[in-house]
Amino acid sequence: MARVRLTDVTKRYDDVTAVNEMNLDLKDGEFVCLVGPSGCGKSTTLETVAGLTKPTSGEILIGDREVTNLPPKDRGIAMVFQNIALFPHMDVYDNISFGLRLRDFPQAEMDERVEEAARVVQLEGMLDRMPDEMSGGQRQRVAIARAIVREPDVFLMDEPLANLDAKLRVNMRTELQRLHKQLDTTIIYVTHNQAEAMTMSDRIAVLNRGELQQIAPPLTCYNEPANRFVAGFIGSPSMNFVRSTVDGDRLEAEGYSVSFDTATVDGVGQGDEVEMGIRPEDVYLTENSEEAIDPSDSIAVETDVLEPMGDQIFVYLKSLAQAAGSGMGDAEERAGLLMSVDPDTDIGEDQSAEIVLDRGRLHLFDVATGEALSHGVVRQAATTTEGGEDSAQVD
Ligand code: ADP
Repeated sequence: MARVRLTDVTKRYDDVTAVNEMNLDLKDGEFVCLVGPSGCGKSTTLETVAGLTKPTSGEILIGDREVTNLPPKDRGIAMVFQNIALFPHMDVYDNISFGLRLRDFPQAEMDERVEEAARVVQLEGMLDRMPDEMSGGQRQRVAIARAIVREPDVFLMDEPLANLDAKLRVNMRTELQRLHKQLDTTIIYVTHNQAEAMTMSDRIAVLNRGELQQIAPPLTCYNEPANRFVAGFIGSPSMNFVRSTVDGDRLEAEGYSVSFDTATVDGVGQGDEVEMGIRPEDVYLTENSEEAIDPSDSIAVETDVLEPMGDQIFVYLKSLAQAAGSGMGDAEERAGLLMSVDPDTDIGEDQSAEIVLDRGRLHLFDVATGEALSHGVVRQAATTTEGGEDSAQVD
């Protein structure tokens, strides 16, 4: 186990800045996913920790040691990559123990470590199998066992599940979480798959264009995204965004009008533009909303396409332009909101409906910088039940 710290790490390739002033401080035993779109600098960041790439500037510490210029073998790390590079002519035992044999480990200790690692990844009884006699998932477990026997301070994993089929990938996610619980080792895990990051990590580091956008527990990234990028990247389907203008205590957009509590948002005044963000599950049919609704917050819409998913239905709503029959603009312009509703909801395509946005879960972002201005645009309800009206509502 070890703490890992990156201080102002920058990596430039000619005119490309792959990683820009990255600051990360990972706790002992923490499982952190680096997540972001392709090319955002995830692998480069990991490679600087591994020692496969030397940063242009900045400093890297593993435990209390500065390792910025140390070769990979002296860093106390083990890596697992997307491409499972097993030696085809060696059985599982020899593949797992390869690194130990290079270092002339005593046979008895090597046997012990290999057996323990095989137990952890559930490959007991398979030590004499050859790689071509194993499934993709089993081969990936051999690769993980090979990392485990080295007893590293830090595991570095770069998309290790990317080549597995969808079902196996989900199983392996659970296995990696179990592995992390058992080994209690710091894990840095690179993935472009936000669902993988959400389900496995203690904290997610979201990267974009070489820069750290937010590092926080998965649900914090989900519920309190630091900016519009994180809001759009984390969560599937993605958050809806609607450009709107402040008009008194209302947010007005084409086809939408929502009241808000001006005290919840600092630095926004009359006539300012803000980006409103709302997740599909926070859009409700007015008739299904459990809370009392100000009628002026109920928005008339028309449904477009439905996607029944089994556990929920995704309902695409037409934008005003589309509903008016002039939906010939580009896709972005035409897109209305996406709403998710219970599977037993009585709803069809091309119908009129009334929706409301959950104002407690409506996000506002600065149009220019993308920074979050507010998560929720109503003040939290008072918890006290003193006084007439409140107590009258307590049944
Ligand atoms: P990710 O892992 O998030 O997909 P990378 O860290 O691989 O992103 O790459 C970040 C950026 O750095 C990309 O623009 C990529 O093209 C560039 N890059 C990475 N490695 C090299 C290299 N060896 N030479 C030049 N550019 C590179």
